[in-house]
Amino acid sequence: MSLYNNKHASNKASPLQKDLLQKDAIAESAPQNFTRGDFAGGLYLLATPIGNLQDITLRGLSLLKSCDILLCEDSRVTRKLLQFYQIKVPKIVSYHDHNGSRMRPRIIEWLKEDKCVVLVSDAGTPLICDPGYKLVLMARAEHIKVHSIPGACAFVTALTLSGLPSDKFIFLGFLPRQTKARQILLQSVQHLPMTLIVYESALRLVKTLHQLHDICGARKIVLARELTKFYEEVRVIDSAAIPDDLTLKGEYVLLIEGQMLQNNDDDWQALLQQAMLKMSLKQAVQTTAELSGVKKQTIYHYALELKAQNSDDAT
Ligand code: SAM
Repeated sequence: MSLYNNKHASNKASPLQKDLLQKDAIAESAPQNFTRGDFAGGLYLLATPIGNLQDITLRGLSLLKSCDILLCEDSRVTRKLLQFYQIKVPKIVSYHDHNGSRMRPRIIEWLKEDKCVVLVSDAGTPLICDPGYKLVLMARAEHIKVHSIPGACAFVTALTLSGLPSDKFIFLGFLPRQTKARQILLQSVQHLPMTLIVYESALRLVKTLHQLHDICGARKIVLARELTKFYEEVRVIDSAAIPDDLTLKGEYVLLIEGQMLQNNDDDWQALLQQAMLKMSLKQAVQTTAELSGVKKQTIYHYALELKAQNSDDAT
């Protein structure tokens, strides 16, 4: 079942034409009159678009215009954004997992010279499955001011589109590559009564869906692909019946419906027992009620029974 997709716009155009059509449409409305801001020296974490180049804040553009040094993962990707908004940056420096430990001391030196240093990733919010936290840690240790300029993030965009509960969710980033490690992680979250979110490559999608089914059983899964881009697609499937027409290209966010506890006494009672091992009775009841949706009073009565049983066993 498809919630919607964007493909209908120009089905007859070639992929290249479609790309150009979209870029033209965006370029016409790209704001050029944002001002150079008054940004103090410090480290700025700047969210950039996850597809649609217009998804960046005015403060973000102003910051790009004002910064002294721009740290990016792949300068070719970041230059496209800069070219689109006709922004020139004095210095662009690569910062990624492979040169991070060598670069960090140099970056800290620049920050100590009161430079305005901006960190971006190829897409979305830096540090979210992207480099940056070690730099933030080091900057903080040196009492350097760190600012975050919020914006696009793939999993948040996917969650808001999914139609799955969004009040409680757990974001797992990319699942481990190794089958065993994936299995252990998925087993550790399979009973959580909240939406599970993972990033996944199109190539591993089908394998991951089968593994999810093996471990978590039949669940509703939302596949959010190519968000904010021309081929954006949000598709709802059942992990027990994986369709064979999935598009195996592009970028994916997977959202898995959490385990529903409220109809199953065994589940909330097991949760309560676990909680009572780690917290006070009052806290355990509160936590179980929040996670299961079961009435606090029902849980409280059962908790008292358990407590009485435990003290009988002890004597
Ligand atoms: N920092 C990014 C963020 O804020 O979401 C995530 C970077 S992570 C290296 C890249 C992964 O994010 C992709 O493999 C994909 O799972 C997901 N992703 C990024 N852009 C996406 C998009 N436009 N649509 C769907 N998923 C996307």
